[in-house]
Amino acid sequence: MFEKLLIANRGEIALRIQRACRELGIKTVVVHSQADTEAKYVKLADESVCIGPPASRDSYLNVPAIISAAEVTDAEAIHPGYGFLSENADFAERVEKSGFVFIGPRPESIRLMGDKVSAKEAMTKAGVPVVPGSEGALPEDPKEVMRIARTVGYPVIIKAAGGGGGRGMRVVHTEAALLNAVAMTRTEAQAAFNNASVYLEKFLENPRHIEIQVLADEYRSAVYLGERDCSMQRRHQKIIEEGPAPGISRRLIDRIGARCADACRRIGYRGAGTFEFLYENGEFYFIEMNTRVQVEHPVTELITGIDIVQEQIRIAAGEKLRFRQRDVVIKGHAIECRINAEDPYKFTPSPGRITAWHPPGGPGIRVDSHAYTNYFVPPNYDSMIAKVLAYGDTRDQAIRRMRIALSEMAIEGIQTNLALHRELFADARFVTGGTSIHYLEQKLALRGA
Ligand code: ADP
Repeated sequence: MFEKLLIANRGEIALRIQRACRELGIKTVVVHSQADTEAKYVKLADESVCIGPPASRDSYLNVPAIISAAEVTDAEAIHPGYGFLSENADFAERVEKSGFVFIGPRPESIRLMGDKVSAKEAMTKAGVPVVPGSEGALPEDPKEVMRIARTVGYPVIIKAAGGGGGRGMRVVHTEAALLNAVAMTRTEAQAAFNNASVYLEKFLENPRHIEIQVLADEYRSAVYLGERDCSMQRRHQKIIEEGPAPGISRRLIDRIGARCADACRRIGYRGAGTFEFLYENGEFYFIEMNTRVQVEHPVTELITGIDIVQEQIRIAAGEKLRFRQRDVVIKGHAIECRINAEDPYKFTPSPGRITAWHPPGGPGIRVDSHAYTNYFVPPNYDSMIAKVLAYGDTRDQAIRRMRIALSEMAIEGIQTNLALHRELFADARFVTGGTSIHYLEQKLALRGA
């Protein structure tokens, strides 16, 4: 096992990784920007290194500064967390070439999955069902593009191969709008991702977002840790996640989960990863793979009892997976609310000083957060300041516990989306379970009207 690990991230996930390291007896180095110098998790680390000014590009995305921080502190491994450099294959390569261990998959795997066209091709080959669409990138020939769209059937969605974060996508309902939409998406994709390659797929009208968590070791052993339902989204940003997914049978999940684990073995995947699917009328359609730990990983930790971050570190240290598929037992139900520093109605960010911080507690409650009374939420980064999780024997119990937690939680000095969460946990359709990815936007549109 490593003696010292460097955390190349900030906020709640930097603290989360630190806790995993402590339990494993690993010393931690946290790198931070000037905006995060005073944060408590920075002081809690064994060592800390300031790597630049607040702007992400000068600090958390500053590769040379991060590598030299690892050199001067004699860290052996680098954990990238999520966001920032976590899915940057060039960074992973630089880390390894500089003699450190990258806590994550091989750079080739990150590259393969980072291009959505090559990811879809690889998944088709591995027997994972994908959204019907063009085989590979769209050709230049307009007649051919029209033929492909007609075969797939309208509506279709044009997507950038290099896209991410919900950008570089356009829905097309009629043939008349097709070629113009393709041209516009190409131009945008070139500008935003430096890759003009686009592809086309069937636009699913009312799907749910269901994802499968996997863990794979260096030796081609792989397991899936069940699923999460992340359909409650606004602008493709998840705000509530839960597992298991309400109303989907174990048999269906086991079938798709086994395909995912098998795909990991075939592509030689290593580490933690998530296969994201759209789910409609009993069918799963792969949309993309995330080659890193995700924000919502604690949902799976609560229902499996497996510490995903510790497993990531063990795998990176060359250990074999410590369990087989039959050892993975899903028990109970977990729900996560992402608490964001933002206006609960207009969704504008609300950074600033937290003057009072009262997190909830009690049976089945877990709070992952780096915030506290007097903490200053910097304006430079993502607005998420806490994740509140509720666990119960049943979904119903988890919901009841979450309602209590949300009623206890109090944050003053800044605005948060707590009010929105309270509203959703009183929403009859959400409480029934199984709402689609459009549900929240539709509800918000009604609220505005
Ligand atoms: P990104 O990498 O930008 O997050 P994804 O491919 O994961 O892009 O898609 C993001 C979201 O866009 C999905 O969660 C879903 O809401 C919507 N979406 C993507 N593909 C389709 C599709 N074929 N049909 C309907 N909605 C889609």
